[in-house]
Amino acid sequence: MRKKIVVGNWKMNKTVAEAGELASTVLEQLGNGITGCEVGISPAFPALAEVGKIIERSDIHLVAQNCHYEDDGAYTGEVSVRMLGSLGCSYVIIGHSERRQYFGETNQTVNLRVRKALAGGMRVIMCVGETLEEREGGVTDRIVTEQVREGLKEVSDLDGVVLAYEPVWAIGTGKTATPEQAEEVHASIRATIDDMFGETAAGHLRIQYGGSVKPSNAGELFAKPNIDGGLIGGASLKAEDFVAIVKAAGDS
Ligand code: PEP
Repeated sequence: MRKKIVVGNWKMNKTVAEAGELASTVLEQLGNGITGCEVGISPAFPALAEVGKIIERSDIHLVAQNCHYEDDGAYTGEVSVRMLGSLGCSYVIIGHSERRQYFGETNQTVNLRVRKALAGGMRVIMCVGETLEEREGGVTDRIVTEQVREGLKEVSDLDGVVLAYEPVWAIGTGKTATPEQAEEVHASIRATIDDMFGETAAGHLRIQYGGSVKPSNAGELFAKPNIDGGLIGGASLKAEDFVAIVKAAGDS
């Protein structure tokens, strides 16, 4: 059975002090309540060290929002896997749609980052998802399959991999995919994974859903057999909402 995983993506929000406060509140509200669910929080780079200290003795994972695909060198503004590891990060989000949309991330650069992170002992959350235009054009399946195949090209072991299906039209818009819409894409991703890695591979792979998950819709999404938790943006900036979503995952 796959353990659910819920990760809060704080994006470009919170100063170091504010991120520390939010992390402390999440920790306090979760208490010993993390059962049946893995939990991570992903502050912006400047707050990783501070948040890392606060959650150090807990089961909460420190998650980075991106990493570069080179070890070091003249890449102004970039952050390497080794740097993230030295801060205590155990996961890194790769290929978030905002990276693809605003920063020129492609399936090829996503693949480079995924391979570099895994080689450096970091687990990855690789994001995939279609735009509204692609969904309305009936090409969701083709786009998502391509993102999965190209993003995981030459990856030999899925052990450190989590996927996040995040329809772009549902991110930060308040529009959530229905549990049935999300389930359909998750099932199709599993078929792609089995095709790429062998028949039983997808049975072990966790696939999160992301896109306007809130306490009010988390339960029904996480109840679907192919949805293994969530990548949470807006709602993760409010400790009570994030904790309620974690609890919904633990209960489902
Ligand atoms: C995200 O950023 O990954 C996300 C799903 O955002 P939101 O929950 O705000 O839609």
